[in-house]
Amino acid sequence: MKAANSNRDQFAILRRTMVEQVALHADHVSGKTGRTAIASPVMEAIERVPRHAFVPVEMTLYAYLDSPLPIGCGKTISQPFIVALMTDLLELGAEDRVLEIGTGLGYQAALLAELAAEVFTVELIEELAQSGRRRLGEQGYGNVQFRVGDGSLGWPDHAPFDRIIATAAPDLIPPALLQQLKTGGRMVIPAGLEDDQRLLLVTKDEGGRFETEEILPVRFSQLMSADDD
Ligand code: SAH
Repeated sequence: MKAANSNRDQFAILRRTMVEQVALHADHVSGKTGRTAIASPVMEAIERVPRHAFVPVEMTLYAYLDSPLPIGCGKTISQPFIVALMTDLLELGAEDRVLEIGTGLGYQAALLAELAAEVFTVELIEELAQSGRRRLGEQGYGNVQFRVGDGSLGWPDHAPFDRIIATAAPDLIPPALLQQLKTGGRMVIPAGLEDDQRLLLVTKDEGGRFETEEILPVRFSQLMSADDD
């Protein structure tokens, strides 16, 4: 019991340090992103979510570095700064319904679940989907719904969404995701060819017109289609 408590305290300290690194990183690249700081509700959520519970056990020691980590099946969880930036760009409201493409082990979904009303997350690889679902359940996130399938089709049964986020990169933004974004909605998605991706912020105005802002060059794994190996 004592050991468990002290582990918890140590993780909290490491998390605090990670939040400071994320803040420094945000400031450092503000010239590129045009944003000097990540909003405090996002930073507070990052300080609450136990990232170590969303990485494979052999990665526990590295969970609070500002670094991407392997999560199995050849996939990677993004570095915390990128997760923070993407979450910040969404400008989540407490009533929002959010679609996430690429559940992975569920870290990003946990942050979304902290800040929005409902999260709908889609993952193509069954093994990751199951592990992500279990991890989110263990951490008590009851406002997340899961689907195994091709996220480039979105989730028509629950559309439209106030916010959409993709954590794998298509060459071009899938039309279904644009269709499933509410008027006034925001989508954050990396897109482009494998070695030339940009993080994009897409907004849909009251007249239904889309505007796209390039935020930063990034490197994400490619959004696969259901018939990829
Ligand atoms: N958000 C995750 C990181 C996931 S990495 C986390 O916080 O842990 C990107 C994920 O996208 C991988 O798990 C990959 O399997 C998934 N993915 C790739 N193509 C997909 C598709 N077409 N539909 C749904 N998920 C996809």
